[in-house]
Amino acid sequence: MSDKRQNVLLGLTFRELTDFAEESGQPSYRGRQLFEAVYGQRVESVEQISTLPQELRHRFKQRGLSVGVPTIQKKFVSSDGTIRYLIGFSDGQSVETVWMPEGDDGEAGDGSEAGNEVEKARAWDRATICVSSQVGCAVDCQFCLTALLGVKRNLTAGEIVGQVCAVLNDQHVSPPQDRVNIVFMGMGEPFLNYDNFIKAVGLLAEGVGIAESRMTVSTAGIVPRIYDLGAEPVRPKLAISLNAPNDELRSRLMPINRKWNLEKLVAAARDFPLRNRERLTFEYVLMDGVNDSPQNARELSELIRGIRGKVNLIALNPGPGIAFQTPAENRVFEFQKTLTAAGVPAFIRRPRGRDIYAACGQLKRTVEFPAS
Ligand code: SAH
Repeated sequence: MSDKRQNVLLGLTFRELTDFAEESGQPSYRGRQLFEAVYGQRVESVEQISTLPQELRHRFKQRGLSVGVPTIQKKFVSSDGTIRYLIGFSDGQSVETVWMPEGDDGEAGDGSEAGNEVEKARAWDRATICVSSQVGCAVDCQFCLTALLGVKRNLTAGEIVGQVCAVLNDQHVSPPQDRVNIVFMGMGEPFLNYDNFIKAVGLLAEGVGIAESRMTVSTAGIVPRIYDLGAEPVRPKLAISLNAPNDELRSRLMPINRKWNLEKLVAAARDFPLRNRERLTFEYVLMDGVNDSPQNARELSELIRGIRGKVNLIALNPGPGIAFQTPAENRVFEFQKTLTAAGVPAFIRRPRGRDIYAACGQLKRTVEFPAS
């Protein structure tokens, strides 16, 4: 049985596209043309590849070749401008991808700023796309909705890049002219799908035009892959979901901690080869009465002392089936102050798209998995 995905261009590297061109009896420069059409122009069909002769496009189409951009099945628009996309793949599986525009004031703009009428067609000056790496997730974090799904399968590199292409096309946006950041913080654990994730990074950087410095990957703490990432020639910045300052608490919230405990995780963070001016990010989801005390903050500051990093504090985004509560705002501020006083830079992450279930830990396919 032939795998449908073999007839898809998205996900192939420049090298692979060149080989494909040659195997099709074409000159090797057709590989460059395909690469530029698929990732640079982001065509959605083979017919749109205008650099290829008509006859060749026709022949490619006849043999069932497609670009493989996934389908936008649903769009949920938040009052803050965030959009949650439900994106479907050829086998019927789907994931969520989030578009977060930001204006000068850090909010999604409303287009009412004074200025040139033509120029201000766009109400934001940069945007972040949060992409998924797996259908569901196998890391059983007790406070995250995606965990409730379990993992269905890994995404291919083409499906990871394809989410970005689908959203950029829908938004009529093109990097590098438009400032777009990518965060690998959607559904799934990117480091449990490492090869496809890192291949997608390369294609986004080289093909789509999004600089590696504009990408961040977040991990629940798959320690060996943190070392692997550090050795990559092209790589995103690293964020580590810490969420607790000691093993007892962390193992309760994130069972993965029993496999790689804080000693191992923090050692990997200390060993991580940071580039010039780069900082590590530690994410810390604050849960009311669980991990949000000043004592927890002090313990956290001790744990990561000496690492060139910062802490992003996220007040828990609630959800059905989640047994934890969001702390009061003053608790969050106090936690931040305690960290800052201990010399650890700490920032409170503003939730985006909470009203449409697009915020951190809220991604859970609205459509249930088809019976398999
Ligand atoms: N699996 C990776 C990538 C997902 S990133 C990881 O765990 O890092 C998703 C981020 O949202 C993580 O930092 C996670 O700790 C956080 N998160 C999960 N559930 C949340 C919730 N209910 N409220 C706020 N943040 C949450």
